[in-house]
Amino acid sequence: MRSGFDETAEAMFLTSGFVYDSAAQAEATFAGTEVHYQYSRFGNPTVAMLEARLAALEGAEACRATATGMAAVHAAMLSHLKAGDRVVASRALFGSCHWIVSTLLPRYGIATEFVDGGDLEAWARALATPATMVLLETPSNPMLEIVDLRAVCDLAHKAGALVVVDNVFATPLLQKPMQYGADIVVYSATKHFDGQGRVLGGCVLGSKKWVEDVLQPFIRNTGPSISPFNAWVILKGLETLHLRVPAMCRNAAAVADMLAERHEIARVLYPFRDDHPQQKLAMAQMSAGGTLVTFDLKGGKDACFRFMDALQLIDISNNLGDSKSLATHPATTTHMRVGAEERARLGIADGTVRLSVGLEDVADIIDDLSQALDAVAAAPARAAE
Ligand SMILES: *Cc1c(COP(=O)(O)O)cnc(C)c1O
Repeated sequence: MRSGFDETAEAMFLTSGFVYDSAAQAEATFAGTEVHYQYSRFGNPTVAMLEARLAALEGAEACRATATGMAAVHAAMLSHLKAGDRVVASRALFGSCHWIVSTLLPRYGIATEFVDGGDLEAWARALATPATMVLLETPSNPMLEIVDLRAVCDLAHKAGALVVVDNVFATPLLQKPMQYGADIVVYSATKHFDGQGRVLGGCVLGSKKWVEDVLQPFIRNTGPSISPFNAWVILKGLETLHLRVPAMCRNAAAVADMLAERHEIARVLYPFRDDHPQQKLAMAQMSAGGTLVTFDLKGGKDACFRFMDALQLIDISNNLGDSKSLATHPATTTHMRVGAEERARLGIADGTVRLSVGLEDVADIIDDLSQALDAVAAAPARAAE
């Protein structure tokens, strides 16, 4: 959508409000008989361009962009839910999504239940009771567990539930949850959409009716709106998404294979590898294995810290989906607050490392990982000297 000056790049409408030709036009706009932008909390032309593009990319009828991924998850859930409702969620969720389900929703009289996402019988048991909403993430953070989208959507719909899928790890390029029956898809645009570590953002995608009747009034009146500047940056990021994500996936697959050869590592998790317990399901619903690799280092936290501190090219960060490769120790950062018992249930060990593989030359990434693993092996020997 061009502004009238025939610009090449999308125009950035960095404005909080809009003016009217007349008092009558303002009245007509608020009455809904005339379409005119009013206030950037309700809508903004740059944000609308981002929303249109994200809807087209997902194949969804409608989209609303939000300030962060968590604002998207929160708005998708709280716009729809009320006291007395019931939510069933996969246990392996992004930390803040887990907090919303375990801690926030019960405060408002919403019953919640977690199930192991990979266990279809557990889903069937939980969804034998009517439910209002199902929230799941696949592949999950950080253990890259796969949820059978079609099977869970069918069970959820029989229970009367709306299915919300957090599709951050797959991106719309690798997996389109609506094709398997998902009703709502949410993203953190902070991750692959921007993909260059600059801005926070999020979005919610769904049917035109749900977005307009349920989500829009919630966003309009509670204000999780994205800045037009951030929307503009994410628009620019989307222009290269189809080049960045496949290249990152190729790097990640090569890195996973390299790590699996190393004796310092107990196991490697990558959805498209032969040794991933759900490889078949991953291949059935995703078109590539993703940009993340998770692995368990022998020697626990100590070995992980030595390994991460020895990295030279790869940075230590809890972010992901960036063009720079980033290493995370979930047990002491992103998943510290879920507690040891829940970590054990999720399979997150003290030796678990999550690697978000970036766009650097794959030989450089592999060299850095190799020298850092060599350093892990070398360190105890030095200590013993
Ligand atoms: C990062 C992330 C979020 C939250 O997004 P923010 O933009 O950080 O608020 C939610 N879900 C998943 C899977 C994520 O990776």
